[in-house]
Amino acid sequence: MRELCHIGWMHNRVRVIVGSFLTKNLRQHWQHGARWFWATLVDADLANNSLGWQWMAGCGADAAPYFRVFNPVTQAKRFDPDGQYLRRWLPELAEEPLALLHGPWRDADLLRRSGYPAPMVELGESRQRALEAYGALTR
Ligand SMILES: Cc1cc2nc3c(=O)[nH]c(=O)nc-3n(C[C@H](O)[C@H](O)[C@H](O)COP(=O)(O)OP(=O)(O)OC[C@H]3O[C@@H](n4cnc5c(N)ncnc54)[C@H](O)[C@@H]3O)c2cc1C
Repeated sequence: MRELCHIGWMHNRVRVIVGSFLTKNLRQHWQHGARWFWATLVDADLANNSLGWQWMAGCGADAAPYFRVFNPVTQAKRFDPDGQYLRRWLPELAEEPLALLHGPWRDADLLRRSGYPAPMVELGESRQRALEAYGALTR
């Protein structure tokens, strides 16, 4: 989100990850994300943006299946294995070892001294709640 605020752009992979996090882990309506992207993206496009968010939320024309919840940590390990992207946009963690960069919340002292905010939600629990909520809609 810092990259989006600073340069008005995000790679598609990051748009997919934040789209999944907002609509599934935080269970927020996709239109909240679409409005923020519309206000901040230099390439904001009504069709691509709306359909991108609906795809993420599992409610679009050819949407991703609702049970597909992207894990930001495994995605970071796969697409940013050396932490270059994380170090650029998380300067407060830039000097930390890779293992902590992909999970700073595992070190309470690091959270205290870096000022890095503690996670908003626990990824596993919030994923389970999202699957239950979506599952209830399909019954
Ligand atoms: C939640 C979400 C919101 C998005 N919002 C927008 C938006 O507002 N405007 C926008 O142009 N794209 C949007 N996209 C699609 C895609 O993320 C961007 O087009 C792409 O990241 C732009 O980077 P680029 O120009 O380097 O693309 P490149 O990978 O170089 O692709 C070149 C062009 O192809 C088109 N394109 C590429 N990927 C997609 C895609 N997945 N869907 C549709 N068109 C694509 C775009 O016009 C892009 O400029 C969104 C995707 C998601 C998941």
